[in-house]
Amino acid sequence: MITRSVARALDRRDPFRKTRACFVLPKNTIYLDGNSLGALPRAVETRLRRLTKREWAKDLISSWNTHQWIDLPATVGDKIATLIGARAGEVVAADSTSVCLHKALHAAVSLNPKRRVVVTEDKNFPSDLYVLDALARDRHLKIVRVKADQVERAIDTKVAVLALTHANYRTSEVFDMKRLNHAARKAGVLTVWDLSHSAGAMPIDLNGTKTDFAVGCGYKYLNGGPGAPGYLFIAKRHQRKIAPALPGWMGHAHPFAFAKRFVPAPGMQRHLTGTPYVYGLTTLSAALDVYRGVSLKALYAKAGLQGDLFLFFALSEGASLGLRPACPINRASRGSQVTLRHPHAYAVMQALIAAGVVGDFRPPDILRFGFSPLYTSYQDVVRAAQLLVKILKNKTYRQHRYTKPKRVT
Ligand SMILES: *Cc1c(COP(=O)(O)O)cnc(C)c1O
Repeated sequence: MITRSVARALDRRDPFRKTRACFVLPKNTIYLDGNSLGALPRAVETRLRRLTKREWAKDLISSWNTHQWIDLPATVGDKIATLIGARAGEVVAADSTSVCLHKALHAAVSLNPKRRVVVTEDKNFPSDLYVLDALARDRHLKIVRVKADQVERAIDTKVAVLALTHANYRTSEVFDMKRLNHAARKAGVLTVWDLSHSAGAMPIDLNGTKTDFAVGCGYKYLNGGPGAPGYLFIAKRHQRKIAPALPGWMGHAHPFAFAKRFVPAPGMQRHLTGTPYVYGLTTLSAALDVYRGVSLKALYAKAGLQGDLFLFFALSEGASLGLRPACPINRASRGSQVTLRHPHAYAVMQALIAAGVVGDFRPPDILRFGFSPLYTSYQDVVRAAQLLVKILKNKTYRQHRYTKPKRVT
């Protein structure tokens, strides 16, 4: 088949062949779900064995100092900083994304205390919307949810904070961060970006675009493992002005003085609440080393081409079988995933998974395919599109075992 040989040729020339070898990938599976749970980097296993057998078992509590466990939120934060256009000391890795978002939003609104409105997108990730609603309740604010193409128009001098997710989890649509930050800054609005679906998959320049606050997720493109810590970015220019929203002893200037009154640590350290989760941070740290020397521009270019190929193969035959694009066709407006609609999307995805292609379903009718160009090959992409078409043609998805819902989709 011509298409297979083209994909093979692209794989032979792929500069990311080497990073693919850094991952453990199951045989006979095409994994297009790295945007939901990244694959296992090989280095993690050895690193975790050392953490368990040496650092925990032998060195025990002294490891907080001798193996720098106590510095992990900052050292892992610094590694993430290099991927998102932040400087050392601007990012800490801790908590979950949702908790980091609570922290970022409370900080942002406290810097703009005279304004009562927070603008977001109505199709933002649900957890982000819940966090925003709680913020509104606690701080007596109004959340204005607008459609993606109305965001810029909603920015005015009544708005305290603009809170957006950079790449949408369902549609893959990407906001123009530079343009919106510029509009926000002109109106005196502070920006909070959620990078969960873009960091590690595309170039991001938080400082170059003058972002105020950002958060993101460790277990998606960053491959930090299930339940990996998230991260919080606060631009250096704001750091001294902000009291932590969730103070705890790990954010104290001198945690081991056991003082009765909270005195914030300098810099980002003050936003840490409790004891760092050493296993999660160690895993994430080892996973981030795969990014050494990687060009995010080249990575994003590969994802763009992979998305184009997938859409082309899936839609050229699948359009007459009920498939519709749900993501931008123009790759410059897309993140690192493509999404398609189909009236039987849930069953189609179950049938695909049974055929060895792992993507995911998002209600009501979305099929989502994430490309992690560090390890997704062109042959994976072309084969997945072909299997999708085959399932639609043969109506395999109509079988009862594919239509019954599972708990985690
Ligand atoms: C995945 C994701 C999250 C995840 O939040 P956790 O609290 O880490 O589970 C939050 N926001 C967005 C936009 C996401 O894509």
